[in-house]
Formats: sequence, structure tokens, C-alpha cells
Amino acid sequence: MRAWLAGFVAMGALASGAMASGAQAATGLSPQAVEIGKGTRPDQVEFRALYKELVETDTSITTGSCTALADKVEVHLRAAGYGDAQITRFAVPEHPKEGGLVVVLPGSSKALKPILLLGHLDVVVAKREDWTRDPYTLIEEGGYFYGRGTSDMKAMDATWIDLMTRWKKAGYTPKRTVKLALTCGEETSWAFNGANWLAQNRRDLIDAEFALNEGGGGRTDGKGNVIQQSLHVGEKFAVNYQIVATNPGGHSSIPIRDNAIYEIADALLKVRDYEFPLMLSDTTRAYFGKLGASRSDAIGAAMRTIASAPIGSADSKAAEATLNTDRSFHSMLRTTCVATLIDGGHANNALPQHAGANINCRVFPGVSVEAVQAKLTEIIADPRLAITIEKLRGPVAKAPPLTPQILAPVERLVAQYFPGVPLVPTMSTGATDGIFLEAVGIPSYGPPGGFGDPDGNGVHGLNERRSVASLYIGRDFLVDLVKDYANH
Ligand SMILES: [Zn+2]
Repeated sequence: MRAWLAGFVAMGALASGAMASGAQAATGLSPQAVEIGKGTRPDQVEFRALYKELVETDTSITTGSCTALADKVEVHLRAAGYGDAQITRFAVPEHPKEGGLVVVLPGSSKALKPILLLGHLDVVVAKREDWTRDPYTLIEEGGYFYGRGTSDMKAMDATWIDLMTRWKKAGYTPKRTVKLALTCGEETSWAFNGANWLAQNRRDLIDAEFALNEGGGGRTDGKGNVIQQSLHVGEKFAVNYQIVATNPGGHSSIPIRDNAIYEIADALLKVRDYEFPLMLSDTTRAYFGKLGASRSDAIGAAMRTIASAPIGSADSKAAEATLNTDRSFHSMLRTTCVATLIDGGHANNALPQHAGANINCRVFPGVSVEAVQAKLTEIIADPRLAITIEKLRGPVAKAPPLTPQILAPVERLVAQYFPGVPLVPTMSTGATDGIFLEAVGIPSYGPPGGFGDPDGNGVHGLNERRSVASLYIGRDFLVDLVKDYANH
């Protein structure tokens, strides 16, 4: 989950800000959730065994195999009653260990479209010698499960697989067809990305009204109290632009003003001074509206205004100026571009023949990379410079809509499991595989449910962990949510 840490940045602003007293008092879990979090029900014992099998199967790009784990999952699915007609395995010959699986539970309705559950099986590489415990052994200690993938994202994978097998075994038929796609390659940019492959090659197989994926979730105060839940709706898109200046050069003892390094320097200052215009989506309006309602300070007032005032109005401009003082909010309100790398020249005593810079842009959903390139060209306004787009990792996606159909069940369940805890829709500045689905017209959402700690739970780092309570409560929450979505 590349969105995870970025999500924490945005959420940190809430935790550190001045909150209204009502929100401060509203922390923690419902009595029902506390009971679920103990993990002692018979179905939870079975679920724990599946989670253990997933965590203990190494699926890192260097020493592991997603295909091997997909084999194990297929055994469970077949034991539950799925056959060849419902199970599709996929891989490409160049990446035999990066295969995946799609399984379909047919629904009863001909009118309602399917929903898709998405999970990546792969994990970030973990080195035994750097970890306190073996990363590929599930260890329960002090209220936490430790192991690579315990948070990112084998808890959700196990929830999806368990749900699909349990419903099949019970003969449960929801109204909507429920599909599960387990893929590889999310964590490694050069790997075979199964979600992208399915979107490009088997759009029919994964066709759905919408998808549920990682990226959302709750946050604790670091002491076990859940203080926020988030629904992940859309993400910014990273693009790199290269600016290159070339020059005949010459001896530095007889300089002239015409100089490749000065050209790049001038261009970069123009990039620094340009502010992309304010943009809002359904998600960011809801984000600022919700967050603003829980704060009684000037930032809170500005949030409420930005969520409701027409863009371009004096009120909107004043609110924007206030919010721009916070770097996270500033970034959520627009496309941003910043210089991140620079190179140039070849000798201390020579006029540079070449200079270049990399501009890293985080593009607001719905804006094209060409439009940003055109804007950079316009503001730099120097025909001597070449401004090019680096090869894109994936498609540019449109922001998924934040509809009552998506939001209402989430709100109801958050109120039930986490009474008084605010639910905040978030647009992250990171990336998940959801972007590949959105590019082919399948809106993707990261539901809340499970929750992590403010330190990020070692995701992508050392000693990754997930709280026992989060695993079981998150699972029950997601099962209830899928059941609701699948029957309406
Ligand atoms: Zn992940």
C-alpha cells in the first residue's frame, strides 16, 4: 500500500489540530467491537489460521512467490466448492512467480452489477537479520501480530478470501455477484502488476460497479483508542517532467550571459513562484467539511468555508490563504510541482554545455499530464528549453465519485463499531492499484474498518505489525460492509 503513509500525513493534521471537545471525547470502540476484538469465536480461530498461512508464505519480489500463495488460496477455494467456471488463474511467462487469481461468487440479481474485492498478495522485501523476529513467522505478542504483510495487506486479503469461502460453503447468495481479484506487483514498480494486467486484458472478468481495496482505515491515538476512520476515495497522480538546456559552452574565462545553468535556474524560479489554481473534488469537499466541523479554530472555519463557498469568491480565497499555511492542505487543494533533482556542467573551468532538472508534479485527479506540461511550458516561457514527460508508470485516473450509495453504509457501520469517531473521506497523495481500475471505469474505494497506530505500524519497514483487535474488528466490519453493498 503505497498510499498508507501519505494518508497518515493528511490525518496527522487532524490529530495535531485543535479539536472541538465533542470530538475529543469521542474515541474508542463500541462494546460490541471490544468483544469482537478478543478473537476467540470459532470462526475467528479459523480465520487466524488463514491469516497465518498468508503471512508465512513469502511473497516478496526477491525471495518469495505470489504464484505459490495463489496456489494455496486456490486449494481453499476449491475445498469451499468453487470450480473451474469460477476460478481464473493468470500470469505471464516472463514473471512466473508473480501470478494471481480471480474468483467469482455469482449473485441472484440480473439487474445489479457485480462488486469487486481487490487485494495485492505481494509484500515489501524483509530481511531476517534486520528484524527482531522472523518476518515470515506470524508471532502474536503484546496485543499485536508481527510479520511482513500483517498490515500491508494480508489482513484484508485474508478477510476477502475467508468471506468468499465462508459464503460459498454456507450456500449464501448475495444479490450482486461478488468478485475477488488477488494480484501481485503492487509494491515494486518494475514488477508484473496484476491489477493493471487485468484492467488492460481481462476487463470483462473484473467488470464491476465499483471495487473495494486497501488505502482506507482507521487511526489510533497510539494507546489503542481509535480516533479517526477514513474512506479512501481517489488519489493524486505522480508525474516527472524533465527540463533540459543545451549550449555550445566554451572557456569560463570569457563568459557570456547565455548559459545553460542560468537558463535552468531561471526556469526553476518560475516553477517555484507559480501556484496551480484551487481545485476541489467531492472527496476533498467532504474531507474539509467533516474536518472543519470537528475544529473550533481558524483553520476549522477555513475548512468549512472552502468546502461550501464558490471557487473564486472572496470567502473561498480567504479560506484558501489560511489553509495554504499547512503544507498537507495546500497540496490537497491543487496540482503541485516541485524541483527534485538538478544536474549540469562538466568542469569547473568550462561553460556548461548541458543542464537539466527534474520537476516532480502531483497531479490533481482529472487533470491531464499534457495540461500540466503545457502550463509548465507557458510559465517557463523559454523556447530554448525542452520540457518532456518521463515514461508514465500507469494511467491517469479520474477521481471516483463520492456517492450516498458508497458513503451511507460506511457511515452507518463506523457509527456502530466506533461510536463518535469521525469518518473522513480522504484523497491521498500516494498511490494504490485502485488507479488502474479507475482508468478503465471501475471506481475504487478504500473502506475503513481496521486501524493502525500513528507510527505507521512498520509498514514497508521493520517489525511490521497489526493489532489483534484491528485484525478481528476490521474483518467483521468489512464483512458487514460487503454484505450491505452486495445486497443493495
Ligand atoms: Zn499495500
